[in-house]
Amino acid sequence: MNSLSDLTFSQLKDRLQQDGINSANASAIFRLVNQGSVELSDLGKNIQHWVTEQELLQPEVLREVVSADGYTRKFVLRFRDGKEIETVLMGYEGRHTACISSQVGCAMGCVFCATGKMGLIRNLSAGEITAQVHFLNGVLANDQKAPIRNIVMMGMGEPLHNFTSLSAALEILTDPRGPGLSPARISISTVGHVPGIRKLAKLPQNYSLSVSLHGASDEERGRLIPINKRWPISDLLESCRDYTRETGRKVFIAWTLIEGANDSDVQARCLAKLLRGMEVHVNLIPLNPTEDFEGRPPSEERILAFLQIVRDEGEIPVTIRQRRGIDVGAGCGQLVV
Ligand code: SF4
Repeated sequence: MNSLSDLTFSQLKDRLQQDGINSANASAIFRLVNQGSVELSDLGKNIQHWVTEQELLQPEVLREVVSADGYTRKFVLRFRDGKEIETVLMGYEGRHTACISSQVGCAMGCVFCATGKMGLIRNLSAGEITAQVHFLNGVLANDQKAPIRNIVMMGMGEPLHNFTSLSAALEILTDPRGPGLSPARISISTVGHVPGIRKLAKLPQNYSLSVSLHGASDEERGRLIPINKRWPISDLLESCRDYTRETGRKVFIAWTLIEGANDSDVQARCLAKLLRGMEVHVNLIPLNPTEDFEGRPPSEERILAFLQIVRDEGEIPVTIRQRRGIDVGAGCGQLVV
């Protein structure tokens, strides 16, 4: 049976009904589980008894590592079955962003990614996804800081490969009775899982979507991202166009820049040609180092030259993503347990 932490509000009401409990208590129980603004002692005696008999997902904290600049904190969390994940809290001026994991390991096997080297061990449940946010909010509350307002589903795993858990977790996190996050402030990062993009577009709320491209031809992209063979660039960009049409949201295109692999003027021109006319914003990410991949980030000069070509010839906005937590292995593609 699912833990209480896994349940959306409507699933919780169904569970209460099944157990013969008045569903008028659903709102208070949902708050207790997902936000902590209700204490167990605020509930009636029989409800308290019912809640204490249910399972709640509270991961154990195994380690915390803090970057040298103090802005990035990476936590290793362990769930009841002993499986571990990493979750990251990134501090910016006046706000915090949570980088949340969706799977233990990942099946996508991107060659530059430490998580991909683990293979897929298992999916996280909805409650194991939301528990990371609740945990990080607890950390911030201890420091007397405001709760998280921005989430990137960019931790371990391909979130759209675990769509059932992801969609339930999104429903919980945006529920005003829970953390009440804005869908616009939740970014789903995918390596190009086309059926998942199409399902995401059909959800009742419109989330921000970030698609990792990294190569402008199928041959080049396929060398870095094996699943390009299954969902080639033409299908992927078609799904992005449809996402914008159905949700009204522009799509963010992530491009990890690897020296000598995808940072040339020719590749910048190909990328500009591919994206011209689309509602997109390109984020360039200089490669973060990982143990088993020998690639390096390009020089700053090369990065700027690449940016200029894509911006001018594609007539699209391009930015260089601020790199965070590289020294503690908390950057994109570095998470591994
Ligand atoms: S980059 Fe993302 S999708 Fe690719 S292997 Fe790593 S975690 Fe999986």
